[in-house]
Amino acid sequence: MPVMPLPYRIVVGLEVHVQILTDTKLFCGCRTTFGAPPNSQVCPVCLGMPGTLPVMNRRAFELALRAALALNCKIAGFTKWDRKNYYYPDLPKNYQISQYDLPFSSDGWLEINAAVDPKKDYRPKKVGIIRAHLEEDAGKLLHDETGRGGDSKVDLNRTGTPLLEIVSKPEINSPEEAKAYLEEIRLMLREIGVSDCEMQEGSLRCDANVNIHVPWEGGTAATPLVEVKNLNSISSVGRAIAYESARQYAEFQKDPANYRFGQVLKRTAGWDDARGVTVVQRHKEEAADYRYFPDPDLVPVVVSESEIEAARVAMGELPARQRKRLQAEPYALSAYDAGVLTAKGRKLVAYYEQVAAAVGDGKQAANRLSDFVLSALNERKEAIDQFPVSSAAFADFLKQTTGIAQQDRRGVFQFMLEHASDAGTAMKALNIQPPSAFDERALRAAVREAMAANAQAVEDFRKGKAAAANRIKGHVMKANKGAPNDVVQRLLDEELAKG
Ligand SMILES: [Zn+2]
Repeated sequence: MPVMPLPYRIVVGLEVHVQILTDTKLFCGCRTTFGAPPNSQVCPVCLGMPGTLPVMNRRAFELALRAALALNCKIAGFTKWDRKNYYYPDLPKNYQISQYDLPFSSDGWLEINAAVDPKKDYRPKKVGIIRAHLEEDAGKLLHDETGRGGDSKVDLNRTGTPLLEIVSKPEINSPEEAKAYLEEIRLMLREIGVSDCEMQEGSLRCDANVNIHVPWEGGTAATPLVEVKNLNSISSVGRAIAYESARQYAEFQKDPANYRFGQVLKRTAGWDDARGVTVVQRHKEEAADYRYFPDPDLVPVVVSESEIEAARVAMGELPARQRKRLQAEPYALSAYDAGVLTAKGRKLVAYYEQVAAAVGDGKQAANRLSDFVLSALNERKEAIDQFPVSSAAFADFLKQTTGIAQQDRRGVFQFMLEHASDAGTAMKALNIQPPSAFDERALRAAVREAMAANAQAVEDFRKGKAAAANRIKGHVMKANKGAPNDVVQRLLDEELAKG
């Protein structure tokens, strides 16, 4: 079905917060373990007691640096901490330590696939990154949701956990692009060990700044910005952008002279996932409302060239580069296949590369991996490093079972999975001969025997029922497990043609 182009252009900037994978918090030694009993991971520093002094966690900074380099950001040699002042019950200090005018990194980009059908083609698009900075997280409020007006409680375990805030330029132009951007950030940050990016656990959070540009009176009219919050899955980000942009278009049509960017203040909206609507809330505070000022308790951070170099080395190969490498020789995969493998992570790509080297054919290795390994991983809900069949055992399986009936091949693989055995052992246990064990003369005799035993099928075939030949072939394959499928088919065709 052709998709009608929208009568407006969607313009989105995303603000992503990711929790950095450190054992301890950003400015104190408290643990960051998820799911610990409420308020069990707190100390006077993260509780904001007077007289305490924060000390920066160098590991958090190293990981943030790694992420910023992966986002192609420029790294500032000198960076400082600022207090962002606001009152909120889950922030006992009444300010958050963040970075204001001198973030440690800025001016980067991330390449995403902006193809209309990402399954078929790959259209690279660079989304600009304004800045990525470090800050501490706030705690969590637990509200009574029974509706009986019970108390709200606060859990301060999360207070002070290191967060990386990544702010994109408003260069995302569809719900699909927003999803592609988030998926790429999640894959990349997981692979380089910066964050586990679990949206369910809140270690990846996203706010979307949405407005639309409408062709109007020979020019373009922009609608007021709305920042959509509470987006707790990648698909909800896509739905919220689609809904909010359509809502803004409807507003604009009601009052095109006044519903304009600059005339109406920026607002925040919550996303109600169950109803599939955005709920516009308050006016957004301006930066001046937060009274930012440099934190007098923390020393500025100076970043050396050697630290940057070390972070670059620790980063390893990024997904974008890996995708390109898999499309080149010796693998020569399609953009889609390279994308599927890369999305499964580096360990799976390494497994694939070992199989491809052993069988000497990149495309075939990718197809067989998809037929056998990927589906088994899915079914068993396993990661590749727990998989019972090693890359060498899988390559050996492919060699030994080439040409045998698909059903037998699956049986062999299933046996290998269940018993963590090699292909040879599995074939012996299942009484399946390798194709090389069959010579043509013996197979021709077997075909003739099967035809004699299935006279009715032979007669049906000769009366024009082509499918009847399958019954004879089934008979041959059953009696000769592991016989090469294509050879049996050819011999049967020849024998049937003799009339
Ligand atoms: Zn603490």
